[in-house]
Amino acid sequence: MKKQLKKFIGANLKLNPVSNNSQSDLIRLLTGYVSEEVGKVPNREVAVFVPTIFLRETVVKSYIRNVGNILAGAQEVSEHTQGAYTGDSPSPLWLTQLGITDVLVGHSEDRLRYEVLGANPNSINTLYNKKISNALHHGLRVTYCVGETLDQKNSGRTKKTLEEQIEQGLSQVPIFDLDNLIIAYEPRWTIGTGKTPSEEDIRAAHQYSLDVLVRTCKIGDDKYKTRVIYGGGVSPENTSGLLKIPCVDGLLVGGASLDAHKFSQIVKAA
Ligand code: PEP
Repeated sequence: MKKQLKKFIGANLKLNPVSNNSQSDLIRLLTGYVSEEVGKVPNREVAVFVPTIFLRETVVKSYIRNVGNILAGAQEVSEHTQGAYTGDSPSPLWLTQLGITDVLVGHSEDRLRYEVLGANPNSINTLYNKKISNALHHGLRVTYCVGETLDQKNSGRTKKTLEEQIEQGLSQVPIFDLDNLIIAYEPRWTIGTGKTPSEEDIRAAHQYSLDVLVRTCKIGDDKYKTRVIYGGGVSPENTSGLLKIPCVDGLLVGGASLDAHKFSQIVKAA
């Protein structure tokens, strides 16, 4: 049996210009998180993933960590550590220098960016493998998002998709880094839609992801602390049910994290 760990609750803050959000909205939101004491809930570990442009501000507001006990994360990381890469994602060194502890890799909206440019799934997974190894090597904790599209679900390819994303995305991860890895099962058709799969589908996908991880990284299934969390359509109303599903070690929250009170209800749900 895997060691019992705190449930990880991540807030993926989509403060993009379409939502018309600014730096002052971010500060207001994070201040709300701190006053709702989301970082102080027993058996919960809370991280916020913010767009790159706001990373420095998040750290300037270091009270979210010091006072609020909330970890700061980035939404992207480069596969490179050194060299000239104009316009690239931030290097892991730069992130750690800013005090960032966590990073998201493979979010559906990020995959889509490569897909629209014509990249095939294998090359995207291989790129993520490099990003993940680079981030872990520099001491960042990685939340790697995996999940199927609606088309893949409807054609019975959910398991195959998860298998490829995990095998190809994690093949270079050393065993000793598995404690610093979180897998987020985020069915791509649920993101931003408010829909969720059935509890049995979530349980099966989480169990299968763990099985593939054990096989890929050649580990005994009691020797690692990798958590598998669920994301997609999480709300205060469905949180308790989701957290009761076996193998669900936490949640990744998108839309509902933009409201401090809703996010606090999610973190505090029994
Ligand atoms: C996400 O963007 O990671 C996400 C899960 O979005 P939402 O909660 O809005 O479905």
